Amino acid sequence: MRLEKNIKKISVVLLFALSAAPSFAQDLLARQAPVDRRAKVVDPIELQDLKVKEEHENPAADLYGDFDNKYVHKATPIPNHIKIDCRHFCMPTPSRVVTSNFGYRWGRQHKGLDIKVYIGDSIRCAWDGKVRIVRYEGAGYGKYIVVRHYNGLETIYGHLSAQLVHEGQEVKAGEVIGLGGNTGRSTGSHLHFETRLCGVAINPAIIFDFRHQDIVSNFFTYDEDKIDDMSAEATRLRGKVGNGGYSRAEVRGEVAEAKEDEPIMIGTPSEGGIHFVKRGETLESIARKRGVSVARLCQLNGFSKDTKLKPGQVIKFS
Ligand SMILES: [Zn+2]
Repeated sequence: MRLEKNIKKISVVLLFALSAAPSFAQDLLARQAPVDRRAKVVDPIELQDLKVKEEHENPAADLYGDFDNKYVHKATPIPNHIKIDCRHFCMPTPSRVVTSNFGYRWGRQHKGLDIKVYIGDSIRCAWDGKVRIVRYEGAGYGKYIVVRHYNGLETIYGHLSAQLVHEGQEVKAGEVIGLGGNTGRSTGSHLHFETRLCGVAINPAIIFDFRHQDIVSNFFTYDEDKIDDMSAEATRLRGKVGNGGYSRAEVRGEVAEAKEDEPIMIGTPSEGGIHFVKRGETLESIARKRGVSVARLCQLNGFSKDTKLKPGQVIKFS
């Protein structure tokens, strides 16, 4: 009993000593540096609110500096290596039909993907962000929208029939910001979709898989030395769906899944066929289905015969 009491006493003393010492030290510090004392008054929650407010007024300020609508492609120094968080996204359209790829086309660079949509189809914002530009360009984008996202990317939506947002408006991923159309330099209604980082156009197929209506991965790492190879690879894997052979249901997103059975031919047939791996498929079963040997599949894809395939994986078969 006595022992217990003593322990209690000791702990009270200890507690006092522990709590008293730091506050005494803080008082000393504060006396030496009045700035510290002032800083202590600011509620940490207030500071956080201020940061959030700044971020909302000027998304990705670290990369872009100011937020203004002066230039469509605002070129700012791009880091050699930067990781972008692509989560919390929304596909801009349920259309699975890519009608034109990123890259060289008709003697000029095509800086985005063309996705088949019909006039009046909803076009949705890819991530949370702030609308930077809502404008019309008769010889190019037509009616278009530029959104700067908090993750550092900018997206551009072109050839719209209607723009439903205004400059400076904060938007959420999935919010309908415009309607599909055929305005500007466009033959046939479609969405011209661009993803840009510090003004540099990035092949959207590196980030978005329209055919499977998903992002390619949760994070996209921009690496100056690798970006061209990544772009070519993305086009090879997620490029054109046939030669305009698409159904209205596919465009409207009314089909539950991409037709996994059909090989997607990209460019000329000599460039090879691609197989989307389904659940339960093995190298053997795919080899049988495609009429090639397992050894050939391994050679084309850099596999060993024991390589385990994952559903959704894309492999070459010719
Ligand atoms: Zn285009």
